[in-house]
Amino acid sequence: MTTSLLNNWIKNSHNYLFPTACLLCGAVGQGTLNLCHGCCANLPRVEQACVRCAAALPQSHLCPDCQRNPPSFEKTCALFWYRPPVSDLIQRLKFQGALAVAPALGLLLARRLTDCIDAYPDALLPVPLHRSRLRSRGYNQALEIARIVSKQLAIPLLMSGVERVRATAPQSTLRTHQGRQRNMRNAFRLECGFGEAAHIAIVDDVMTSGATAQVLASALRQQGVARVDVWVCARAC
Ligand SMILES: [Zn+2]
Ligand SMILES: [Zn+2]
Repeated sequence: MTTSLLNNWIKNSHNYLFPTACLLCGAVGQGTLNLCHGCCANLPRVEQACVRCAAALPQSHLCPDCQRNPPSFEKTCALFWYRPPVSDLIQRLKFQGALAVAPALGLLLARRLTDCIDAYPDALLPVPLHRSRLRSRGYNQALEIARIVSKQLAIPLLMSGVERVRATAPQSTLRTHQGRQRNMRNAFRLECGFGEAAHIAIVDDVMTSGATAQVLASALRQQGVARVDVWVCARAC
């Protein structure tokens, strides 16, 4: 028996002996995916949205904001709308230490990406947390999701080179677009050398207004990155 066959056999036996439980209803999951078929089918998938920023639109096209002010990123792929039960899952991941949510979202995002991306990026960049928030949470949820996507799609993960230098207020707590943009100003510091990657995809759990992605994408473009895309598990609607 070759090593890979043996590994597969061990993995399948493990799934059989210890099936994953659905994060939402506790029923048996689907292999390594810890969401059952029924719950998965009912999640609010993004079907029609702006191709550039994933804002809700009656059909896939460019929203008025992107037509007026094209963002620094080229395309956004958003998996779900940020509403229950997806918003509950993400809040459990961020505020209740439910790390088991990250592999589920990462796996589903990777599956979605294989259908919707037109070009594979050279590297993935999870949106960094400020060190004070990283210390209190213990992990960066964007990195935990990006780890799974990186493994599934075989795209390298950028683990250093970008730092969140300002402890910004959560974007969801700010009411206006201007407030969100102001909140994110100078939030990140990039080391040199990003220009070597021609195409980078930013990975995050949630996109609220797109202000965080815009600031980070703009900084990457200034470093010489030719194309930046955004991949998120959920988009505010
Ligand atoms: Zn379920
Ligand atoms: Zn748009």
